[in-house]
Amino acid sequence: MSEVKSAPSSIAVLTSGGDAAGMNAAVRAVVLTAAHRGIDVFAVHEGYHGLVTGGDLIRRMEPSAADGILHLGGTVIGTARSKRFRTREGRREAARNMVERGIDALVVIGGDGSLAGANLFRQEWAELLAELVDAGTITQDTADKHPFLRLAGLVGSIDNDMSGTDMTVGADTALHRIIDALDALHSTAASHQRTFVVEVMGRNCGYLALMSSLATAASWVLIPEHPPSADWRAQMCRDIKAGRSIGRRHSVVVVAEGARDRDGIPITAEQVRTLLEDELGEDVRVTVLGHVQRGGAPSAFDRYLATQFGYRAVERLFADEPHGPAQLIGLQGNRVITSPLMECVARTQEVAERVKSHDYDGTMKLRGGSFGESYRILQTIQQAAPRNDPDRGCRIAVVHGGGPAPGMNAAVRVAVRIGLDRGYTILAANNGFVGLRDGDVHEMGWMDVSGWVSEGGAEIGTNRYVPGAGAIAQIAEQIAAQRINGLLVAGGWAGYRAAYELQRHRDEYPALDIPIVCMPMTINNDVPGTELSIGSDTALNSIVADVDKIRGSAVATRRVFVVEVMGHDCGFLALVGGLATGADRIYLPEDGITLDGLTADVHALTARFRGGKRVGLIVRSEGSDRVYTTEFITSLFQKEGGGLFDARAETLGHAQEGGNPSPFDRIQTTIMTARCMEFLSEQLEAGGRASAMIGFQSGTLRFTDLTSYPTLIEEDAQRPAEQRWMDNRDLALVMRG
Ligand code: ADP
Repeated sequence: MSEVKSAPSSIAVLTSGGDAAGMNAAVRAVVLTAAHRGIDVFAVHEGYHGLVTGGDLIRRMEPSAADGILHLGGTVIGTARSKRFRTREGRREAARNMVERGIDALVVIGGDGSLAGANLFRQEWAELLAELVDAGTITQDTADKHPFLRLAGLVGSIDNDMSGTDMTVGADTALHRIIDALDALHSTAASHQRTFVVEVMGRNCGYLALMSSLATAASWVLIPEHPPSADWRAQMCRDIKAGRSIGRRHSVVVVAEGARDRDGIPITAEQVRTLLEDELGEDVRVTVLGHVQRGGAPSAFDRYLATQFGYRAVERLFADEPHGPAQLIGLQGNRVITSPLMECVARTQEVAERVKSHDYDGTMKLRGGSFGESYRILQTIQQAAPRNDPDRGCRIAVVHGGGPAPGMNAAVRVAVRIGLDRGYTILAANNGFVGLRDGDVHEMGWMDVSGWVSEGGAEIGTNRYVPGAGAIAQIAEQIAAQRINGLLVAGGWAGYRAAYELQRHRDEYPALDIPIVCMPMTINNDVPGTELSIGSDTALNSIVADVDKIRGSAVATRRVFVVEVMGHDCGFLALVGGLATGADRIYLPEDGITLDGLTADVHALTARFRGGKRVGLIVRSEGSDRVYTTEFITSLFQKEGGGLFDARAETLGHAQEGGNPSPFDRIQTTIMTARCMEFLSEQLEAGGRASAMIGFQSGTLRFTDLTSYPTLIEEDAQRPAEQRWMDNRDLALVMRG
């Protein structure tokens, strides 16, 4: 046998199983990354059916063809089930179709079934080729050229049911569809004092049902992994009645497709409707969301995730070895990782088995930490009233600082509900640290935050005020007067600065010697102690939606758009927004803009237009350069484009800060706030006075001591000293084609 080469000959990519939004972005990333490495990619149309059938169903995909599919829902190369691929004869045909085209590497985007099939195919590869040689179908020389099948798997599935990745491609988009629907139902239900029972997808996995309930004000949720107790009917009716009695005008019960009781008997949306109608005498409607959940344009997160996955899959093909286990590309926290594919498939199938055998505790454990945590938080915040009276002597104030970030209201809601439930008094400072300084602070009640989870903006107000020396003294006075003994700062740059200033002066003012916790809430993602801040996902979705429209406006022209996005001194929104919209060039404050760089970019883009390109996209972060402004760059491209294209500037503006929070921002805010309350609670109960910043580090939520704040920021710019997302600048270079 010939020596194993370090590069695949050609790569095939296919989508299989149920379609999921973001699959196209993954295919595009595979094609562009392979092209960057000088390798051809064949798109296999109609999944394994195409691989077995061959012919016109396996077609070379040029980067130019892949470039225009990023924003499309579903999968443009099609997906289909294939019985033949389940047979050895079918897989032999598939192998023949591949080697005849010089293909010996495969990227499969699908669910656990598709990935298990791919792994089997890889294991059999050498034998399949030997059988083809024996049958005289291919030559020994051809077989020798492709001694093993390189394989990389990535999960496209709306259910988010795969072990080995925190998120599957398509799940976030499905949450967007569900949450849009639930938000809409909440308003119509409230108008009529109605109850809605909503069925969402998920046969073995309650992820969509649980997270959409957490991200809206659902009254009850039924999921396969955690069947309700035997008396669930009475309990549900009691809870909904209790909600009505405290003034809730609507109730929504979310039922996962695979919901069941403790004996494994399915609980359907219809059964819940009948129960509530009979017991409560209410008008109850059922809405089955169905395939709407699969469709539509992929969310910003799915585009970014799929792009990272596709890129990493090709990198992985180069590293693949004949005897090592095939790898699955996945996400852990916010890092892309690889894990042995079949271990992930086995664990995924084990969860399904445990659900079937009614081992629900085991199922919840296998689902991982944040699943169980989310369920517990949901149970607390959806109650009709707190379990404890406010007599514990703990008075926690919530204050915002910095620009408005989508999710701020959700944070206050969770802080209020969790705090009250523990028997604490929760105060809100109006209008940021100005309110804290002036004693403009008020107590919050359980129902004061009703409906806040889905609202954009900041109900209690926020601003960029940072207290100076005099104001610190006033704040200390007010904290003493209000007997505040814990502070939750949910904000951005100014909020963190203000919190640090208070902490720094605690020796001078004993009233400031209290636990303070900062939570990252800014669209800019520019605060220290975290790889990701709340609000940025909503801003990215706003950018993606606007750029889709802007691109669409240019159908009949040849045009370069120069789109300016927010971010202050931090290029996060520009880089991730640029990757999620397929930008040709991205300008960041961290890199600045040079004349040489601009000249090279003008030449490169002009050449692409000469080759037939119709629309160009440049994403420029607002703080990239003081001289080379968005207008300057637009004029430059306009002039240099000559008759080839014209150029237009678009500044996306404050729409990025507004709008209702995305599912991701709602969910993460909820979990983070719960952790912050836990932190304050631990300090207060133990008499501690530690202060901290919560954030994602290596993908997990951790606390960093607030005293280290000055060492974690850049001296001259408003951004953290270390920014992990910058690692993806290489990816942006590859994706610009
Ligand atoms: P999903 O990938 O979403 O779990 P399926 O389980 O329906 O979806 O699998 C999709 C396709 O993958 C099947 O139609 C079949 O062609 C192939 N496949 C699934 N499981 C296997 C297997 N064990 N062996 C070979 N092929 C398989």
